Amino acid sequence: MKKIAVLGSTGSIGTQTLEVVRANQDIQVTALAARSNLVVLEAQIREFLPKLACVWEEDRAEELRKKTADLSVRIVSGMEGLIEAATESEAELVVTAVVGMIGIRPTIAAIEAGKDIALANKETLVTAGHLIIPLAQKKQVKILPVDSEHSAIFQVLQGEDKKTISRILLTASGGPFRGRTKEEMKEIRPEDALRHPNWTMGKKITIDSATMVNKGLEVIEAKWLFGVEPEQIEVVVQPQSVIHSMVEFADGGVLAQLGTPDMKLPIQYALYYPKRRYLAGQRLDFAKLGQITLEAPDMENFRGLALAYQALFKGGNMPTILNAANELAVRRFLEGSIRFLEIPEIIEASMQAIPYREYPSVEQILETEQETYEWIESRW
Ligand code: NDP
Ligand code: MG
Repeated sequence: MKKIAVLGSTGSIGTQTLEVVRANQDIQVTALAARSNLVVLEAQIREFLPKLACVWEEDRAEELRKKTADLSVRIVSGMEGLIEAATESEAELVVTAVVGMIGIRPTIAAIEAGKDIALANKETLVTAGHLIIPLAQKKQVKILPVDSEHSAIFQVLQGEDKKTISRILLTASGGPFRGRTKEEMKEIRPEDALRHPNWTMGKKITIDSATMVNKGLEVIEAKWLFGVEPEQIEVVVQPQSVIHSMVEFADGGVLAQLGTPDMKLPIQYALYYPKRRYLAGQRLDFAKLGQITLEAPDMENFRGLALAYQALFKGGNMPTILNAANELAVRRFLEGSIRFLEIPEIIEASMQAIPYREYPSVEQILETEQETYEWIESRW
């Protein structure tokens, strides 16, 4: 029986991972981690009986210890606990489904411990890809993408020689505001931005999809996962979210992976790679679909994507500045303290203000994150 740990088990990807586990009945979950959702976490502990579970705050962990006193699960807390969950001795694979840069340390610890990674937590690869990819190679662990576009590319690349990739065509839905100008996006409220046309996801990534910062983070993620140059990654808007991404090869041939928008497919593919399994759910009905439309992204009105390309070309800690500024700006937008269009403004201003570092260590990445937060807090 395959054994896994799930970090961020109560979130959108985490719960869908456990749905896949439940449907297949041949994976054992040995560790779970969440921030604060004790109701869902306790139910997961009772169903999957992990050896270890982590909650971020110690007082909440204590509460969970009392609630689960009848079980043999050990409850831990904080970063130390999250790292313990990521390195739980029996797990062979760790699903990283926490949101944000908080995933860096546990992901590195899991790789150090020789665990394969099913990676959903893109912020970790965006900020620390230059450390994580070589480390994974050294430790001979697999980084299996869960992000649907990257899973599509990964699927398309099976049996191909990576050296023959000429372009990666990363598809984007364009989000709920596709086609709008900046002027038309001035008054957008959180509740408008939280309505994504094709995907149901956690709040942070839903806002990132509305600003197209998500696609920018994915461009950077693609560079690290597939070892291509920034010039080789092109974003194509495909509003129906049917084509999950494409690869053009040296001979001009283009291969794509298509399907309904369902994250359980990339999750299941990562859990059982290289095997494919039956997955219940809707199938594409091409006749009903009628057409698949494609267009270029609008980087003028959706500055977040253009800024991510800038950060990718500049490298070093620039993607960290972009990502940290975005994480804080999204939190502020969701609280209602800044406007929608201030998200890219805050990112751009931070990228100009925070000192550049060429090859940041983990400590320097986390320092850059703090510097970025402090700089934004002193001005906005
Ligand atoms: P959610 O907000 O739905 O879930 C986040 C999860 O992380 C929750 O379980 C949350 O716990 C947990 N968490 C947050 N902070 C901590 C912490 N400090 N310690 C432990 N657990 C923590 O996010 P999503 O599932 O949507 O996204 C997760 C990641 O996957 C993101 O990086 C996102 O970009 C990526 N992704 C998501 C996709 C999707 O379809 N949702 C698609 C592609 C990528 P709690 O519930 O207790 O707060
Ligand atoms: Mg994606």
